[in-house]
Amino acid sequence: MTDQSLLHDAWDRDHLWHPYTSTINPLPTYKVASAHGTKIKLADGTELIDGMSSWWCMIHGYNNPRINEAAHRQIDTMSHVMFGGLTHEPAITLGKMLLEVAPPSMHNIFYADSGSVAVEVAMKMAIQAAVSRSGSHNKTNFVTIRSGYHGDTWNAMSVCDPVTGMHGAFGSALPVRYFIPHPSSRFGGKWNAADIEPLEATLRDHADDIAAFILEPVVQGAGGMYFYHPQFLTEARKLCDKYGIYLIFDEIATGFWRTGKFFAWEWAGVEPDIMCIGKGLTGGYLTMSAVLTTKEVADTISRGEAGVMMHGPTFMANPLACAIAIESLKMLRETDMNARVAHIQDIIARELAPAATNTKVREVRVLGTIGVIETKEPVDVGAFQRLCVAAGIWVRPFGHNVYIMPPYVISDEDLTILCRRLLEIMQTI
Ligand SMILES: *Cc1c(COP(=O)(O)O)cnc(C)c1O
Repeated sequence: MTDQSLLHDAWDRDHLWHPYTSTINPLPTYKVASAHGTKIKLADGTELIDGMSSWWCMIHGYNNPRINEAAHRQIDTMSHVMFGGLTHEPAITLGKMLLEVAPPSMHNIFYADSGSVAVEVAMKMAIQAAVSRSGSHNKTNFVTIRSGYHGDTWNAMSVCDPVTGMHGAFGSALPVRYFIPHPSSRFGGKWNAADIEPLEATLRDHADDIAAFILEPVVQGAGGMYFYHPQFLTEARKLCDKYGIYLIFDEIATGFWRTGKFFAWEWAGVEPDIMCIGKGLTGGYLTMSAVLTTKEVADTISRGEAGVMMHGPTFMANPLACAIAIESLKMLRETDMNARVAHIQDIIARELAPAATNTKVREVRVLGTIGVIETKEPVDVGAFQRLCVAAGIWVRPFGHNVYIMPPYVISDEDLTILCRRLLEIMQTI
């Protein structure tokens, strides 16, 4: 590495908040000059192979020529126009394309600003629909599984894992939800029927004040990078129907092929009533999310007291974001993504496997383009990142999880180098 002063900006350190950062003792942040394909170029010229897809969204790589072109075209047409009383071709085209890939029962689309906001919107939808359907104003709470992550806004926080999430810091300011253990049955392992019992018990006792069951299907992301048995979703669907509870799938992390299916619900084949998507939706270019729902939910909301869905952000269905998402979806459609993800999965599985013999490692697991090395002790993020940058790779662990989620366009060679250098670093920590 070269001149450190180019990489760590003192003004930034003093004035800019980065995610989950102390102003007294901030972790180092590296200054990026540009990014191309699967390479992030730092201000001193160092090139890093990207293992994070910029928090899982940059699926086609940085500075993608086709997405750039689509963005330029849309900027020259119109970057934004309000969605109240107006509509536009990018919103319509994107909506049609989303319904083609969504669970068949999805019918209505609500465009929102970010993943967290999509979760807020989904929870509001569930309450409005549950109250309208039951006629009871008590059906306003939620049940979820532990180790989940659903975002950083108020209600999204309330359904994040109560230990690894933010319940400690916000205490009684957060609404109190029903938490059940996450399924012990692993993805690819044997189904343990006892896993569904806590949900049944909770719904049996509390269905009268629960609007919906919200969870990430199959892969729990930022709450612990855990892969569970799809049968849990099948059983959950049955119980939600039996007790009159809506089922919300948060597919913000799992969508757009990350787990090896277009959406993770396909592993179980059971559909949600409400579904959140985000992250990969715009190929990592802009913040946008969407909430999809059935006609039944949408119309039940509209028959309720308010008569309308009570939400409407300023930047709803932003045309620039829509145009970018359309191009990203076209690229996914033109690629044999089943084969692409299987290929990436094979390389990650082969290359990360040796980490299992490392005495500091508890487990190595791989699904789709997600490779996780779970450590016995929490990882020192700052120290770990210094080693990664020195080795020319970009990986940002959290807690006990050292993981990679590379862009789908990564070359075999770069992916192999990324994994091998990561394993070398794991030997030294
Ligand atoms: C990232 C994430 C969110 C929050 O999305 P933001 O765009 O960061 O607000 C919500 N749910 C899941 C499953 C996520 O992975």
